[in-house]
Amino acid sequence: GGEGRLVVVSNRVPVPSASGSPAAGGLAVALNAALQQRGGFWFGWSGKVSEEETPLEVHDFGHVSYAVTDLSQRDIDEYYAGFANRALWPVCHYRLDLTEISANDTAGYFRVNEFFARRLATLLKPDDVIWVHDYHFIPLAAYLRQMGFENRIGFFLHIPWAPYDVSSALPAYQTVLSGMTRYDVIGFQTRRDLENFTRCLEQENMAREVGGGCWEADGRTFRVGAFPIGIETDLFRQEAREAKSNSLVRRMRASMEDRHLIIGVDRLDYSKGIRQRIAAFSCMLERFPQMRNRVTFLQITPKSRSEVPEYIRMQHEVAEQAGWTNGKFGDVDWTPVRYINKAVSRTSLAGLYRTARVGMVTPLRDGMNLVAKEYVASQRGTDPGVLVLSRFAGAAAELDSALLVNPYDTEATANAIVRALEMSLEERKERWRAMMDKLRANTVDHWCASFLSVLAQERACLSSDA
Ligand code: UDP
Repeated sequence: GGEGRLVVVSNRVPVPSASGSPAAGGLAVALNAALQQRGGFWFGWSGKVSEEETPLEVHDFGHVSYAVTDLSQRDIDEYYAGFANRALWPVCHYRLDLTEISANDTAGYFRVNEFFARRLATLLKPDDVIWVHDYHFIPLAAYLRQMGFENRIGFFLHIPWAPYDVSSALPAYQTVLSGMTRYDVIGFQTRRDLENFTRCLEQENMAREVGGGCWEADGRTFRVGAFPIGIETDLFRQEAREAKSNSLVRRMRASMEDRHLIIGVDRLDYSKGIRQRIAAFSCMLERFPQMRNRVTFLQITPKSRSEVPEYIRMQHEVAEQAGWTNGKFGDVDWTPVRYINKAVSRTSLAGLYRTARVGMVTPLRDGMNLVAKEYVASQRGTDPGVLVLSRFAGAAAELDSALLVNPYDTEATANAIVRALEMSLEERKERWRAMMDKLRANTVDHWCASFLSVLAQERACLSSDA
């Protein structure tokens, strides 16, 4: 039942500092709130490298604690930078062309998962409810089950799950897939990911559907569901309102003169379609010369995963595209693309979103994309901006009142930018209201509560043999 402690597992653990917790994202805030409510602990990697086997580090904060373990450089290279980020990540984002298969990395992924399972096992009580997050830990439940643990264990995949023909190219594909069936509940961002996954189970004859979202494999039943993650909608809105006085936002506004701002915010990742987006902006300037010198495109892109070669390569491609566009269309008093490789605080982002007339969120593939939701939540209801959103972002399933685009189609995306810039106030308000309703109805707290309530339904599957 729901009375046991909650155990959250994720690769990185937001251990609060002695002075109080740092500025954390919505996910960490929601999970911490659930931990506060029920008691329990958060478990994962310390973020530190250590060559000898160091003991588990436990940070105690009353009835909530944080337990973290170090990893060796080899473990990090194989499990994290290797299998998780060079095999699972590209495959789940439909990028077989960028997938690197290495037997060492694959073995390392399973070895490190077993290591995490053994360490977690020393902390578990029989009625603990365990919630495992994301692609780093798919086999964790399988190892815990092998050790005899019968706890409720849920898994949520924050990234997409690709169709059978793509995902089956993953090394150790069958082991990864069967590892998923050792959980009690498997959550996805969208119905599309869920259907791709269950299709894989069918193709491999690994499980059979027993009705009501429940499946059976090797005599165990498990439940699958779509649980689209949300944001702290009202809090973000509040931050955006208050960001007027933020100095970065003020500097940005002052430098705008009377031009419209178009904004993009993404980690530097090939799944985000940043190069294609700048190309679409460039195409727009080419085909609609009246827009030149009337708009500024701000792309905020903190670097990420620089230890992975594919990321270094795309960093060059994006920088080249930005430079090329500025060289071609820029003038002594106008820089069309402002491309910035550093992270911006949440407060500043909220204010920049509110300043931007157009939000460009055009990933080639994305699990959800929270920037899309944050952009909408930050808008002024009396004069909202327009969200241009990729059909291939998980967020498009809910935010279908955005201007939906195919990010591979440069001209169509260029047209959507113009349409956004010229949209009537009435239409902007109508679209924005429809999206805000969804963001208010499905916040990150709702997401957390609904996953945990399904995970708590011990007999849900056994009773539904329709
Ligand atoms: N973000 C931030 N500062 C930045 C860029 C991004 O705080 O400079 C935040 C952004 O507000 C969002 C998150 O990082 O909450 C990115 O989440 P998203 O789902 O869009 O993409 P992910 O990086 O998880 O693939």
